[in-house]
Amino acid sequence: MSIFEGALTQLKRAAKFIDLDQAFLDQLSSPERTIKVTFPLKKDSGKVEIIKGYRVQYNNILGPFKGGLRFHPAVDMDEVVALSFWMMVKNAIVNVPFGGGKGGIEVDPKNLSEKELEKLTREFTKKLAPNIGPFIDVPAPDVNTNAKIMDWIEDEYQRQWTMDNGQWTNIHKNQLKAVVTGKSVKNGGSAGREAATGLGGFFVLEKLVKKLNLKKPITCAIQGFGNVGANFAKILFKNGFKVVAVSDVKGGIFDNKKIGFNIDLLKECREEKGFLAGCYCIGSVCDIARKYENGIISNEDLLKLPVDILIPAALENVITNKNAKDIQAKIVFEMANGPTSYEADQILERRGILVVPDVLVNCGGVTVSYFEWYQNMHKESWSEDIVNKNLKEKMEKAFEDVWKIHEERNVSFRVAAYILALRRLSEKAKI
Ligand code: NAD
Repeated sequence: MSIFEGALTQLKRAAKFIDLDQAFLDQLSSPERTIKVTFPLKKDSGKVEIIKGYRVQYNNILGPFKGGLRFHPAVDMDEVVALSFWMMVKNAIVNVPFGGGKGGIEVDPKNLSEKELEKLTREFTKKLAPNIGPFIDVPAPDVNTNAKIMDWIEDEYQRQWTMDNGQWTNIHKNQLKAVVTGKSVKNGGSAGREAATGLGGFFVLEKLVKKLNLKKPITCAIQGFGNVGANFAKILFKNGFKVVAVSDVKGGIFDNKKIGFNIDLLKECREEKGFLAGCYCIGSVCDIARKYENGIISNEDLLKLPVDILIPAALENVITNKNAKDIQAKIVFEMANGPTSYEADQILERRGILVVPDVLVNCGGVTVSYFEWYQNMHKESWSEDIVNKNLKEKMEKAFEDVWKIHEERNVSFRVAAYILALRRLSEKAKI
């Protein structure tokens, strides 16, 4: 089953619980528009490489298409379609006026110089420019993309727009900035956007801990230490959770004694060394590592650790029918998009492992992206406190809405989340 087929199966499973028009379900089962672009990239060496990029506009029932851009060698159309579908579902759950979109470039940015990365981003933006815009489709960061890349997109889009429309327009420059979110704060980005996905997840987790009456110490293992994983780890650490294992693409480390890592030190070390596994023994972290009797752990083994909460925060499809029987965590908290395959989800459900789905827990990023878009459109600039307060409200409301359906219908969290999304989409489609 492909990633997208798995995602659709989740949708159809939830659709059985509500009275939904078959034609509408069919409409939600395929993307409105898929865009594939190919362009040459001249490398610093003078060599030319042909690059493939994608943007999928899944549907805009709730508002302009919205979703991140991923730069990764494994990006392909099936993955981007699935990710754009999940964006549609997420935006409905967290109730922001956006549809689903996603994009990516099949490239390993780690093999590019800064100059090549900028050229790649600008060429891709030129190709997408006719199909994106503040009222049309609004990209954002995802795996291997960040504020600097979003700033290049914004700048290139403004340049293209001015060439096509001239300078005399009365559309405010700020509004054009809303073509992309996740920009740097100095360039119209929102305060709080960078940590928003992690913080949003934490607001959901706090509610869950209360509902389930979980008592500290609560042990957590996190796969992925990028924007989402590292920010989430830091927030957990600051709030008294014990993060006992973390990993990145090169592997991970774990704390045998379950004391819990000092995430500030780990972040420092990773920045210095470039990867986490290297933090097993570096400078001050080395001393801590010895004290905690840490060990090196593979990404696969991290998933099987006996912790209270397992947090996949890297890529999709890491919990599959091959390893679902070995998961020992009590809760799987999906900060990544699509980390659990459909088959694995069924196995975990049968085994009584609570899966808190991606479409609910990782909505924080798109929520603050919406705040950024709103601030650009209205020439406003909110403080981080206001952003975080509004984020908390949105995430807690989404959690309560999903929890209510979960209890009333006696369905899994994932089915409940999809039921909520389907209700909101069908209500809006009727208008
Ligand atoms: P990122 O590029 O900042 O970080 C990705 C992390 O995953 C890195 O630590 C990398 O080393 C690690 N990684 C990559 N391949 C891996 C592998 N095969 N095994 C283990 N680790 C691996 O990306 P991110 O923005 O943190 O995104 C992580 C996940 O969260 C993705 O699924 C993304 O779609 C999702 N997400 C991101 C946002 C956001 O705002 N950035 C919002 C919602 C969901």
